[in-house]
Amino acid sequence: MALPHGVSETDFTHALDRFRTAVGDEWVFSSDEDVALYRDAYSIYWDEPEERVASAAVAPATVEEVQAVVRAANELGIPLYPISTGRNLAYGGSAPMYSGSVVLDLKRMNRVLDVDERNAWALVEPGVSYFDLYNHIQERGLDLWIDPPDPGWGSVIGNALDGGGGWTAYPFRDHFGAHCGMEVVLGDGEIVRTGMGAAPGAKTWQENKWGYGPWVDGLFRQGNMGVVTKMGFWLMPRPEALITGRATVASDDGVVGLIDTLNLLENQQMVNGSTQLNSGGSGGFGSPGWSLDVPIYGPVNVIREQLAYARSKFEQIDGCTFSESELIMTQGPGEDAPPGVRLVNFGVPNLSTFSLLGRSPFQPNPAGGHIGFSPILPRRGEELIRFRDWYRANSAEASQGEDLGIIGPVFMTNWERSLVGLIMFPVAKDAGYNSRIRAAFERWVELAAAEGWVEYRAPTVYQDLVAQTYSYNDNALKRMQEKIKDAVDPNGILAAGRYGVWPKHLRDA
Ligand SMILES: Cc1cc2nc3c(=O)[nH]c(=O)nc-3n(C[C@H](O)[C@H](O)[C@H](O)COP(=O)(O)OP(=O)(O)OC[C@H]3O[C@@H](n4cnc5c(N)ncnc54)[C@H](O)[C@@H]3O)c2cc1C
Repeated sequence: MALPHGVSETDFTHALDRFRTAVGDEWVFSSDEDVALYRDAYSIYWDEPEERVASAAVAPATVEEVQAVVRAANELGIPLYPISTGRNLAYGGSAPMYSGSVVLDLKRMNRVLDVDERNAWALVEPGVSYFDLYNHIQERGLDLWIDPPDPGWGSVIGNALDGGGGWTAYPFRDHFGAHCGMEVVLGDGEIVRTGMGAAPGAKTWQENKWGYGPWVDGLFRQGNMGVVTKMGFWLMPRPEALITGRATVASDDGVVGLIDTLNLLENQQMVNGSTQLNSGGSGGFGSPGWSLDVPIYGPVNVIREQLAYARSKFEQIDGCTFSESELIMTQGPGEDAPPGVRLVNFGVPNLSTFSLLGRSPFQPNPAGGHIGFSPILPRRGEELIRFRDWYRANSAEASQGEDLGIIGPVFMTNWERSLVGLIMFPVAKDAGYNSRIRAAFERWVELAAAEGWVEYRAPTVYQDLVAQTYSYNDNALKRMQEKIKDAVDPNGILAAGRYGVWPKHLRDA
């Protein structure tokens, strides 16, 4: 058992007893066998001394139990690491950022508390997965869509709190952006409700995001200021249909117009689907040029007009060709998604993404996992070409001349008004290989930051490194985050170090 740093065995044993009193003996896990289940299967330090590991885990079933656990931890100085379903693969899994923390596992809190069809929102607990919410909506026959990320087994709350996103229409696919109202247990066990939830008689907790006064919800996104025990989300009323257009240009010259036109159409809210940009034009990888898929969700007559408008804009680009796919009617409640579609684009959670990374005739020896490097880039064609050329020019040096199987860059347009230049780094259960991947990853963070390209999300082991790239004015933002951390969690027990914010007593260590 890995004791939390600086905690005596007596205090730790006492804390586990207090947790048992709070949640029941069977929901406190301290055997090596049980605690090993909280290891990060994609750890880039697998089986090495630096691997982040928990000391124990505790799984409350109610908010009162969460409060009791947090109060005991606060009194005894035990670091806690809250997770919802803990399936944060590629970003740390269910292992804590600070080794020795006790994982506060919230997956037993799995009630869908409310879904309102008339104004399209849901209120859920942390253990509710995308599958759970989807099934609840199906069972009640509601004409609403959820927005799943690729793996449907994750938590609606956990994914949003880590800055995750999905694949249907904007604004629903920005999961934190689509939330409305939270309930949070702070480091001393006090419960706070944000937005309209702070007004005892208000009936609009899930309908008005802002409430009154300074908005604090952002402190809990990629944060460590509290344990989120409830969260509201706006859902999409099922769109009638989906139609997709494809704009293609034959060379790099056309990409500036392609991206400017995409920006115009998205900013006008003419295109709302998760667009996809591929190099290789219509001729596949290896050919010059670019293609851009623009999916549009909505009522049949409206989206036909929107697509015609999109065509008229893309055809103004020199040499751009535009084609339309068949219009696909969406499935109603209780119906299967149309055949052959990518399910997440139709609001249906599933796990098919893992087949891409698993063993197959094309991939006889899969690495076994990956971590993502996801710098945010300006949405301009010139910058995209610059990033691609920069990546090519530096690849050999960053990988020290070796082919490490790094995949990328894939340009993702999930977020409004910016691009993600995603690069995927394979992870293996081989310390030698992992150390070479680490050296390459760290080099890319450094090289990209020098160009002003910094990441929006990072695996736990790199959260400090990436936080250092947000250093404007002598790290003023981080210093402010630390002041807030010290005020709301003075004993620094919650998710120490998450996204680079450490409590006072660990800051200089
Ligand atoms: C093949 C593959 C494809 C993927 N595709 C996507 C994708 O399409 N979109 C995407 O967003 N991600 C994707 N991921 C990344 C990741 O697996 C998902 O984001 C996943 O949903 C995160 O796990 P979770 O939902 O169980 O969250 P959790 O692991 O429960 O939570 C994530 C983190 O948030 C914090 N947290 C969670 N709950 C709480 C709480 N209640 N209070 C305070 N803090 C909390 C913790 O620090 C925790 O570590 C992919 C990963 C893989 C391997």
